[in-house]
Amino acid sequence: MCERATATNRILCCVLGVLVLVLADSMRPADGDLEPTFSTEMTIESLASENDVSPRQLLNALSVHNTCAWELPQGVDLTYLPVDRDHWMAALETLHAERHSSRSALAYALMVVCVSAALLLILPRKVSRSARFLALVGTVLVFGVILGGLPNPMDAFVRFLKALAGHESNAVVIALGLLVFTALSLLGSKLVCGWVCPFGALQELLFALPLLKRKRDFKLPFMISIGCRILVLIAAIMFLFGLAVAPTELSIYEQADPFRLFSPAQMTGMIAGALMVILILSSVLFRPFCQILCPFGIYSWLLENVAANRPRLDQSRCTKCEKCVKACPTQAMQGVHAGGSEFFRPGCWACGACVSACPEDAVAFTLDSSSTDGSAKREVEERADQTEK
Ligand code: SF4
Ligand code: SF4
Repeated sequence: MCERATATNRILCCVLGVLVLVLADSMRPADGDLEPTFSTEMTIESLASENDVSPRQLLNALSVHNTCAWELPQGVDLTYLPVDRDHWMAALETLHAERHSSRSALAYALMVVCVSAALLLILPRKVSRSARFLALVGTVLVFGVILGGLPNPMDAFVRFLKALAGHESNAVVIALGLLVFTALSLLGSKLVCGWVCPFGALQELLFALPLLKRKRDFKLPFMISIGCRILVLIAAIMFLFGLAVAPTELSIYEQADPFRLFSPAQMTGMIAGALMVILILSSVLFRPFCQILCPFGIYSWLLENVAANRPRLDQSRCTKCEKCVKACPTQAMQGVHAGGSEFFRPGCWACGACVSACPEDAVAFTLDSSSTDGSAKREVEERADQTEK
């Protein structure tokens, strides 16, 4: 019965996926969204239509540099008009940037909704395998395919570093963007990574599918995972700030940015190669890019230490069966069981697997450790038992 329900959910999810893909295809902005289309043989009308804007919008943007913009004849080739190519390109780029920013705003708003919904599933222990699978598919389709790889937590963090190094001009907007990711990460450990990052979700989906034979319970040791990420981050900072060589505007993360999978117009040979390796690795290792490279992964791991909601274990209920440790795709639950300091434990991707796996309800993704203290609940249960007898 349960298996049938799972199969039905997966079929529904595939149908939903196809529908969303069709929708995405009709909604996806033209390739020119990133690179404006321009030719001097075009007229104002054809230039506007090729770039998916109206002539009115185009002339409005052009009027910033050319006061005569509104008087230009619309059916004449651009060659014969007294406007520089640079001014046409600047007008188009402004319009495209505006469209991109409204897409970003939508992505950010959706991200907040999805993270809240995820928390509402995890807190009352309602994350079933099929719910998780559906959520990951939805994340890849909506934030990846439809919104073109937005939100991009890695980019938010890298651009913040670049702004600090003086390579970005709109530092305030960049800082605000990172602030949203920071607030959501403080709400619950890695809720952003676990539930709304499209590239993280894609890796996890590949890990969930039995594509290659793997030793299922292999978990990358946390010291290796965090060590690699820190080394790459140090190298990136040295390049950006020119501490080792001359400063470069392009961070090493951007040169192999896997999020470009969702915006193919920006794909390069190097990125395609890196992507292939990461995606193949994903079928044998849980989120390899997140665990080995992603700089936002380090940042959110630091925030995990003070995050309000995170996995907590009620020792009074725990029978030490370690089903939660087995269900956890990383060493996070092992860290929780080891006890000791609450700080700097292995990273938790807020997947909720540990919470669902515990038959004693001893694990909870929760705000306050006292709320998982089962002793009070036990006492009430024992008193109720005695009364019945
Ligand atoms: S750690 Fe993974 S899930 Fe988190 S931002 Fe990086 S790529 Fe996305
Ligand atoms: S199973 Fe592991 S990664 Fe998932 S919520 Fe629990 S501790 Fe975090």
